[in-house]
Amino acid sequence: MSAHVTARIDLGALAHNVRVLKARTDGRKLMVVVKADAYGHGLVKCGQAAVNAGADYLGVALLEEAVALREGNVPGPILAWLNTPNDRFAECIARDIDLGVNSVATLKGISNAAYSVDRIARVHVKVDTGLNRNGVTLADLPELILALSKAEAEGTVKVVGVMSHFAYADEPSNSTIADQIAEFKTAVDLLEAANFELEVKHLANSAATLALPETYFNMVRPGVAAYGVSPGEEVGAATDFDLKPVMTLCAPIALLKKVPAGSGVSYAHQYHTTADTTLALIPAGYADGVPRSATNNGPVLVGGEIRKIAGRVCMDQFVLDVGNLDVQLGEEVVLFGDPERGEPSVEDWAIAAGTISYEIITRIGPRVHREFINNSW
Ligand SMILES: *Cc1c(COP(=O)(O)O)cnc(C)c1O
Repeated sequence: MSAHVTARIDLGALAHNVRVLKARTDGRKLMVVVKADAYGHGLVKCGQAAVNAGADYLGVALLEEAVALREGNVPGPILAWLNTPNDRFAECIARDIDLGVNSVATLKGISNAAYSVDRIARVHVKVDTGLNRNGVTLADLPELILALSKAEAEGTVKVVGVMSHFAYADEPSNSTIADQIAEFKTAVDLLEAANFELEVKHLANSAATLALPETYFNMVRPGVAAYGVSPGEEVGAATDFDLKPVMTLCAPIALLKKVPAGSGVSYAHQYHTTADTTLALIPAGYADGVPRSATNNGPVLVGGEIRKIAGRVCMDQFVLDVGNLDVQLGEEVVLFGDPERGEPSVEDWAIAAGTISYEIITRIGPRVHREFINNSW
């Protein structure tokens, strides 16, 4: 096939990372977060690989994502936590998908849907412990607890979990972390005092899973670390934790041509050749997830060396100044992959583009062909 850009997804590396995270948390359950198409890596394949490697739960934001996992025949517990009022609750409940509940209004929607399909919805109470984003505040929690108790008594809902999310886990010494842990404990106590049997209590994202054992409770909920990417510099490099990058992004050289010194390259001539040289055209652009802000800056492994992009990143393509490198038409260049193979890392790209690693991997576009390797089943 004539794929222009390929994201090679190493499912063996993903399985390795899942086992590393599981071992790290010492007997706790592990929810692997596969929202946003498994951070750009491919939802169903990665979900299945994570389950095979020992993930106890899969976590997604949207209900659609959970349904897509079930449609792909991925088994096991799945939690979807970002609901909207008219969401597909009934379908999810019928497919054994746990739901996050953040308010009395959401609970009503879930409980009505459960009644309509004659099932009991399993819910995780999403508590806001200081991020001030999704979740019920501690002030509003007692009212939600009353409504949950009523729904349990009516047989539409069972409270099985409690969760919250950090504002600053990527700064492991930030003072808000202790405050959020304390608020979370208060929420757990309130729920347990109301006699809910909480199977899982989960607070830790990747950064907390790697750096803050006091946040583990009985389940952790990492995403980015499972893909072998560090959640942030302060936490450490992925290799410090024996995590292996899962995605390698590569593209073939589509054209090679000689140009004289002083040639302006790509839109608005933001790069000029300094000598007679050879330009290589790479058919990957911002529509594929190569950030335009990496203009003149994004690192690419070409002909055994790392070169920066020459000039603007366009919608479908960019250019490399390959000088006298010995490269052939059709030869593969690597934007990012495994630094141990000499390739730039996702983290290098995040710095080059002025963003975070998460955005680099999750924005890989739909034209990019995902090729799955080291698939062990
Ligand atoms: C995305 C997300 C996670 C995973 O975060 P990472 O930093 O990728 O580990 C965990 N919990 C919630 C609520 C999230 O939205």
